[in-house]
Amino acid sequence: MATKLYLVIPCYNEEAVLPETTRRLREKMRTLMEAGRISFDSRVCLVDDGSRDKTWPMIATLHREEPLFAGVKLSRNRGHQNALLAGLMTVKDRCDCTISMDADLQDDIEVIDRFLDAYEAGCDIVYGVRSSRETDTEFKRSTAQGYYKLMAMLGVEIVYNHADCRLMSRRALEALAEYKEVNLFLRGIVPLIGYKTATVEYARAERFAGESKYPLKKMLALAFEGITSFSIRPIRLLLAAGILMAGLAACFFLWAALGRLFGFFAPAWPPIVPSIFLVGGIQLAAIGLVGEYVGRTYLEVKHRPRYFVETFLDD
Ligand code: UDP
Ligand code: MG
Repeated sequence: MATKLYLVIPCYNEEAVLPETTRRLREKMRTLMEAGRISFDSRVCLVDDGSRDKTWPMIATLHREEPLFAGVKLSRNRGHQNALLAGLMTVKDRCDCTISMDADLQDDIEVIDRFLDAYEAGCDIVYGVRSSRETDTEFKRSTAQGYYKLMAMLGVEIVYNHADCRLMSRRALEALAEYKEVNLFLRGIVPLIGYKTATVEYARAERFAGESKYPLKKMLALAFEGITSFSIRPIRLLLAAGILMAGLAACFFLWAALGRLFGFFAPAWPPIVPSIFLVGGIQLAAIGLVGEYVGRTYLEVKHRPRYFVETFLDD
């Protein structure tokens, strides 16, 4: 039996790209259906993440005109990760597998074939990995790559150069549903699921219309989320740094005291003033970082819902 596939596309203020995106996806889905690779009741599920432009009316119109398009409307903007999760969780019981992609089609839609190959070969999770970042700005490329390295150093298992373009089987989605965390970083959670996985490389294109919905601020927030929700190593590093600093200070003090006593070293004490600030600063930073984890724990403990689906359009 042909695979029942749901594409899940989070959309936030994407009226500029939607017509072209949906045109390309429609063509792709038709080709796959006619080739017998996916079933005729496969869908493209567009998730409106509380857009303020015409995104939702456009999705509703698409759904009315063609059953191929399904729509999920969130009650308000919850951010890319939550929107994606909302889409995946809403459709998981209706399909054999999902493929998530961005609305701007920066992820090459031709990878769908190779995703399906891997799925048919028995994989539950297939990661789309960018082979090149030529179309990204130099800044985005170097910060992104530095970030993957940092995450690896901190002991967080993430797939190098993989964003949220991936195939997940129904079984993998059921597993994902078990993760209840509020501070959501899907790239970190999915590798924890296990099962048989594969990676597929593709070239990442440029956003063809509209502008990035990930300004630097949101990017930094996601990056920080990734670190603090998966690794407590920063806290340990701070502890080690603190012990080292204190040890060095004690040695210095001893040396200065002995120097005075025996006359081989007479320290000029004023330089101690900057060191007070140095230590004070480090302490503040440490407390701040610990606070960050405590704050996150607070959010997790409250178990606030991550999203509300206002409308779900599917047959
Ligand atoms: N997005 C979303 N909610 C947000 C921000 C972004 O659903 O609050 C979606 C957006 O519509 C797009 C995807 O997340 O489908 C990736 O965003 P974008 O292409 O702007 O990010 P970039 O590729 O520049 O990192
Ligand atoms: Mg993009």
